[in-house]
Amino acid sequence: MAAVEKRYLFTPGPTPVPPQVLAAMAEPVVHHRTPEFRPVYERCLARLREVCRTGNDVLLFTSSGTGAFESAVANLVSPGEPHLVVSAGSFGERWATMTAAFGADVDHLRYAWGETPQAADIRSRLAEREAKAVWIVQSETSTGVVADVQPIAAAAREAGALVVVDAVSSLGAVPCETDAWGLDVVVSASQKALMTPPGLGLAAVSEAALAARGSTPAYYFDWARTRAAQQKLDAPFTPAVSLVAGLDVALGLLLAQGLDRAFERHVRLGRAARAGVKAMGLELFSPDEDRSAVVTAVRLPEGVDASVVISGVREHFGITLAGGQGELKGRIFRLGHLGWFDVFDITTALAAVELVLAEHGADIERGAAVTAALEAYEHSTVA
Ligand code: PLP
Repeated sequence: MAAVEKRYLFTPGPTPVPPQVLAAMAEPVVHHRTPEFRPVYERCLARLREVCRTGNDVLLFTSSGTGAFESAVANLVSPGEPHLVVSAGSFGERWATMTAAFGADVDHLRYAWGETPQAADIRSRLAEREAKAVWIVQSETSTGVVADVQPIAAAAREAGALVVVDAVSSLGAVPCETDAWGLDVVVSASQKALMTPPGLGLAAVSEAALAARGSTPAYYFDWARTRAAQQKLDAPFTPAVSLVAGLDVALGLLLAQGLDRAFERHVRLGRAARAGVKAMGLELFSPDEDRSAVVTAVRLPEGVDASVVISGVREHFGITLAGGQGELKGRIFRLGHLGWFDVFDITTALAAVELVLAEHGADIERGAAVTAALEAYEHSTVA
């Protein structure tokens, strides 16, 4: 092993953090109620609105994405109230459990893991049973499926329901048009396509969602308290000031490139990953379509446990890939390509997987994956 081993983080969160962001976070800590912090906070909140494509407030919490999601549950759910939760993987299931834990009368529209939720199903479910809100995951990180949120949101709104979207791994990677699509709540977190370490959660919240406050008590995650304080640039509690400084820089980088260009890059990275996987003779678990631009989930050949690949690339090459969650454990590995990724991250990951599989006797044409990935990346234009 080299004296200093290089390490690569290729998971769908946390994701690699650009050096400019790390440098901002290494600055001396400032107090949050000072002229040093306020402009950073103000700019970060404004940039979050731009990234969410909303004119509404984006509430920032010192928490991971689950905390921000819990803020939505705590503020919107009252015991006994009907809610429709759509799941097709680990995170959708988490939200079904969480809404039920807060006393919601949950109608759980449950797809098999890896399926793609369809607006028509949601429309007919809401015709049978009304719901105060529809809870949907945009990018189901456990399977690689990215749902087509716009028609789903339209179906929910037609039925008079609020729309709550888990955009934890999708915000900044694929389009999430909060206002144009009529999304009432969009939840995300710092450590995915926003290129910042874990520790900040956010929720873009519409006036309708704020007005729909239920009877469940909340304090730290109370939207009204956070909103009132943020509007005065006075966080209600001590914010993670260094993370806010880092997020501000990361959002600046994202917006300087332009969101649409970032979305295009993610589509091309997804194409590259899928082309490489197929050229290696492996089967995709995530759909082979442009929407799968966040994470590529890959099935292993018969008789090979995913842990062999994951521990192989880690031990030999310092590469971290993600395994399957829940029922997919051992059956797939997941390659993230969200946030600060480029095509050479994809080729590095593919080359390492190829080496490990070849070592385990797989019949693989050496170099084919890298070539296919580069070609798919280079020769693709995105409409
Ligand atoms: N939802 C999705 C789609 C995710 O990918 C994740 C993170 O892995 C979460 C929710 C939970 O976020 P966190 O781990 O930041 O609490």
